[in-house]
Amino acid sequence: MKICWVGLGHMGLPMVVHLHRAGFDVSAFDVSAEARAAAAAVGLRAPDTLLEAAEGAEVIFTMLPTGDHVRKVLLESGLDQATAGAMCVDSSTISPAQAREISAEVAGTGRSFVDAPVSGGTAGAEDGTLTFMVGGTAEQFAHVTPLLEAMGRRHFHVGGTGCGQAAKLVNNMMLAMNMASVSEAAVIADRLGLDARTFWEIAQVSSGDSWVLRNFYPIPGVVPTSPASHDFAPGFTALLMRKDVGLALDETSAHAVPGAMTHQAARLLDQLIQAGEGHLDFSAVVRVAAGELPADTSLAG
Ligand code: NAD
Repeated sequence: MKICWVGLGHMGLPMVVHLHRAGFDVSAFDVSAEARAAAAAVGLRAPDTLLEAAEGAEVIFTMLPTGDHVRKVLLESGLDQATAGAMCVDSSTISPAQAREISAEVAGTGRSFVDAPVSGGTAGAEDGTLTFMVGGTAEQFAHVTPLLEAMGRRHFHVGGTGCGQAAKLVNNMMLAMNMASVSEAAVIADRLGLDARTFWEIAQVSSGDSWVLRNFYPIPGVVPTSPASHDFAPGFTALLMRKDVGLALDETSAHAVPGAMTHQAARLLDQLIQAGEGHLDFSAVVRVAAGELPADTSLAG
């Protein structure tokens, strides 16, 4: 099966490497020459143009920052003529509504579309242990499963088009809120004079345990693989997390959910971004929790 992969960033490159190693015939493309060079360096075919990468492709994967990027690549790049009949699989995180719109337009060009966003972060992408949440028909799910198996450990057929994105959006909403709460707790534990490692071990076997605590504890040196132990190098940037929290807020307001916690998580990320730190991993919100960044008085009371 010939595959075209578009988007070789923090997630895309390690994901497509698994497809390549599993023996699929892959060509990859990214607008960044640096990203294409990184792909070539690990043995992938990475031509200079999208259309060259897409030549003869039966499946087109997109792993791009936003839904507008996905639309541009799938519908405004000439790809429709180059890949008639292909299946488009979008693993980016975008809104469920935009996934449905793009799906309908892609269908109008004689191709098909599946949303297949992922959870598990860059570690999951590198280890091939991602969780895929798929929106599409049962036939589409069956068709993409062998490809997803090369990159992940769990694959859920959530429902029709857009349902994969709906599940992903709610998951990331929880991740953002969990990160905010663990950050605040980590800061106060520190100021109470607790040894960070000792407190982390206690919380892991207590009711404060969570995935964020175990993997993203935001105090340097406690979890060696946590971005906090690497000057908050992403990972998953605060800017991309803010995009996802924005998608979640669109849904809370559309469904009459007050969304107080989600709003608070958004404001913490906004503070980080306004301080010029949006390129850092989203766990850098601990700096806001620690009061290291200019105060947002609207958070008081
Ligand atoms: P990233 O910014 O590291 O990578 C995106 C890549 O897309 C970049 O290399 C960029 O040059 C490329 N790109 C942009 N426009 C393009 C175009 N028109 N044609 C070709 N390439 C283009 O982002 P990422 O962290 O890899 O995330 C990608 C998507 O996956 C996002 O939607 C994000 O929300 C989601 N996601 C990220 C993580 C994570 O931990 N980083 C986890 C799960 C889901």
